[in-house]
Amino acid sequence: MSRTTESQSGSSRRADGRHQQRRRGPGRGPGRRAVVLGAVAATLGGAGYLVHEDLERWWWRMPGNQRDRKPGAVDHPGAEWVPASEENYNLADRPYDWEIDKIVVHVVQGSYAVALKVFQDPEHGAAAHYVVRAEDGHVAQTIRELDVGHHAGNMEYNRRSIGIEHEGFVDRPEGFTDAMYESSAQLAAGICARYGIPVDREHIIAHHEVPGADHTDPGPHWDWDRYLSLVRRATASRRG
Ligand SMILES: [Zn+2]
Repeated sequence: MSRTTESQSGSSRRADGRHQQRRRGPGRGPGRRAVVLGAVAATLGGAGYLVHEDLERWWWRMPGNQRDRKPGAVDHPGAEWVPASEENYNLADRPYDWEIDKIVVHVVQGSYAVALKVFQDPEHGAAAHYVVRAEDGHVAQTIRELDVGHHAGNMEYNRRSIGIEHEGFVDRPEGFTDAMYESSAQLAAGICARYGIPVDREHIIAHHEVPGADHTDPGPHWDWDRYLSLVRRATASRRG
């Protein structure tokens, strides 16, 4: 998360400052979806061997299978829907228009409540998709996964990623609770399964690893070995 406004390029706004009607991602070239779907059709045509997980992933790319936007709906089962201000993200149609291949891990530098509050502030200029509470691992979803959150400070990375905020401070590792690690790992495993994202440090990255990022979160005390092993375990139990 940011204490300063993350200015994002590529956001199309009308004169009144509202986002344009957006079934499409910002700055998206024409025909990209057709190209993607064509490739998917070709893949499916000759791929009787695709395992279930792959089929589940590709299914979302087929025409007519867009998810709707039912009020209150969430992508992560059990998450509480606490919507961010629409000024802090771009409506999109991922993974149709932009492929999702990364998870960006953040630490709020503040409380769970503060994160939700600033995400709802249209002046804040930034919001991630999820906020995980330290005390009990409770998950709030603030942006749908198909939409592009402004959380990475880099529009290319915003488009291809899902952002998870964790309550706490980079220099207070004692605040990174077991419950938060466990719950966040379950969340990340679900995201990886939905989009076919490999569970590794190339694809599950720190905010401070995003090119051009001027943030330090989640910081040196975030236990990556532990987190990745929890995500792997959660992934294995999803398969089992
Ligand atoms: Zn961050």
